[in-house]
Amino acid sequence: MPSMQEMRSQTMRFDDLYWEASSERIVEDDGELEKIAARADLPVLLAALAAALGDTSFLSSDLQPPLTPVDTQPHAQGGMSPAQQGRAKALALEGLRQLRDKAINSVDLLEDGTVTELLAFLTGGREHWYASLKHELDLAPDKGGAPQWHFDEVAEGRSFPVLIIGAGIAGIAAAYRYAQAGVPFTVVEDAPTLGGTWAKNTYPGVRLDTPTFGYSYSFAQRGDWPHQFAEGGDVLDYVRDVAERAGVVESIEFSTRLVRLLWDEESRTWQATTRLSGGQERVRTFAAVVSALGQLDRPNIPDFAGAELYGGVTMHSQEWSHGVDYRGKRVAVIGTGASAYQIVPALADGVSGLVLFQRSAPWMLPAPSYHDGVSDTFDWLRRKVPHYAQWYRLWVTLQGIPGRMHTVTAEDGWQGAPLSVSAKNQEVREVLIERLEEQFADHPELLETAIPNYPPGAKRMLRDNGVWAAALKSERTTVVTAGIERFSEKGIIDKYGVEHEVDIVVFATGFKPSDYLDEVEVVGRQGVEIHDFWKGDARAYNGVTVPGFPNFFLIYGPNVGGVVAGSLHFMIERAVEFSLKAVHEVLQRGASAIDVKPAALDRFVEWVDAGNRRMAWGQPYVRSWYQNAHGRVSQVWPYTNAEYWEATETVKADDHEFLA
Ligand code: NAP
Repeated sequence: MPSMQEMRSQTMRFDDLYWEASSERIVEDDGELEKIAARADLPVLLAALAAALGDTSFLSSDLQPPLTPVDTQPHAQGGMSPAQQGRAKALALEGLRQLRDKAINSVDLLEDGTVTELLAFLTGGREHWYASLKHELDLAPDKGGAPQWHFDEVAEGRSFPVLIIGAGIAGIAAAYRYAQAGVPFTVVEDAPTLGGTWAKNTYPGVRLDTPTFGYSYSFAQRGDWPHQFAEGGDVLDYVRDVAERAGVVESIEFSTRLVRLLWDEESRTWQATTRLSGGQERVRTFAAVVSALGQLDRPNIPDFAGAELYGGVTMHSQEWSHGVDYRGKRVAVIGTGASAYQIVPALADGVSGLVLFQRSAPWMLPAPSYHDGVSDTFDWLRRKVPHYAQWYRLWVTLQGIPGRMHTVTAEDGWQGAPLSVSAKNQEVREVLIERLEEQFADHPELLETAIPNYPPGAKRMLRDNGVWAAALKSERTTVVTAGIERFSEKGIIDKYGVEHEVDIVVFATGFKPSDYLDEVEVVGRQGVEIHDFWKGDARAYNGVTVPGFPNFFLIYGPNVGGVVAGSLHFMIERAVEFSLKAVHEVLQRGASAIDVKPAALDRFVEWVDAGNRRMAWGQPYVRSWYQNAHGRVSQVWPYTNAEYWEATETVKADDHEFLA
């Protein structure tokens, strides 16, 4: 493993903490290579070969993948026809032979023109995606993510300490980019360890429910992931490893909670009060504050009648008590969201009885490889073809730009409400129901309750490899759809009056995502507190800035969460980069602070609201955690990564006020 210094100098050039200078040499004979080519992801391999061999003839236009839209599950090879695949395999074999025979095992950054040719090939010429994709392309000479300036050049001698709140995925991204720009910062983290959601969520079965390769930083493109959908522990190890490689761990104050931020009009700085776990408070001055508090980390435990009577063990999915052995016990799980969906199959075999309280059934997308490791072919390619894993990551990312948007966009005048929002949405509904019919053919009594009574995409869709249906069909499982009347001493009484006696109750009842900055007091200009400004309807320009709260930046704030398209890390990184651009503007102008104008926020909110109204989750008859108490969709981004790229590309002077 390279030293920290070597890693840092590599990072400066390549902006990838996992940059691999060389691959293993190919020694296999033609027969073996033919087998590899036959099983490879061909568009990815052709791109990787073109880059490594410096030969764009591998990108022949007749082999361009058509990128057939993904309705329920991805189309193999980007929808290439069998004839295309045949020709591509032969070409890929030729390329692998050349790599072997010329002993090529490394690749350098590409020329700009080559980048464009590669992106044109992979995207079918969708030019409006190129800028956002370059951000993700390891070999692009200018990914556009790293700051092209340094604090010492712009503001030498100026005191400009920045406070970053939280050391989860967003906080680490912020720390990395602020460190690159040489802006001094301190991170405070309430927990005793870093990793945010992945440190907190350790329930049985926890893993990614989006493909692993689309769930990583553009500046930390790990290639050797063991699973197609990473296990929770692997994601946590990755976040920790990134923080180590980035050298930001020493800047984190653990077990330190931010409790209050007060804008001081005179000094134009933030007075931040932090509290140690022991209770000691400290007030410090910061020029700017970056909130990287998570969206899904404040447990929602509904106020069930009689809860205080219950004598068994209770736990929220995020606060799993590992000291409690569930094996052989009777367990109730309340909820059927993404957390319950992983917990229930993981528990089903070990418990003596499982009672699942389902208020609504989840939509499930077929994902046969949900629990699988990466294939041997993939492993071989990532070890032996320079940057194959990074090309694969780009491929996953670009397919995710449109994602499943087209399947969840509402059609004007559609008559299928409240079960579907368009002809395509109805088609998806029918395909998914057919799958449920197959899975519950031997248990028809469960089928009716397994079919959601809302449109696909109105709530988060889950990954189906059969284990959910198997757990529901287990003779030890009871699915209760009657609703919860109250808790008793021994368990839960449903609305039909049936008492379900259980030893353990698991609240898989989700979070309070719309309560942004809950438990933190933020007092901005003219003494306005941010929650009073929001009145329960959190809004931020680009999800980042709020009028009246200068030099205060939210990462992954309101309205920027992707649900059927895009990458979480992309949205986080772009918000960080936007905040850093704003800081740069402040420093360069010799201003004290930047404040977004109310009219700019209103325009932004109008734009995202209009987008969300067109989507399945924005229909008036749908309720989910995507909305806040006012019913406004305040969590979700209705557009693609490409639009967020554009929105965050420049800090528009007209939209902002600069304080002297
Ligand atoms: P969630 O999606 O909000 O699900 C909460 C569940 O609890 C829902 O089924 C809800 O029913 C039910 N519920 C809430 N209040 C209830 C009540 N009073 N009575 C009965 N049932 C009640 O929460 P989550 O499953 O923790 O997931 C939240 C988000 O976290 C996910 O959407 C996802 O973004 C993220 N997540 C990701 C992963 C991953 O990547 N692996 C895993 C877990 C979570 P209704 O459906 O009827 O509202």
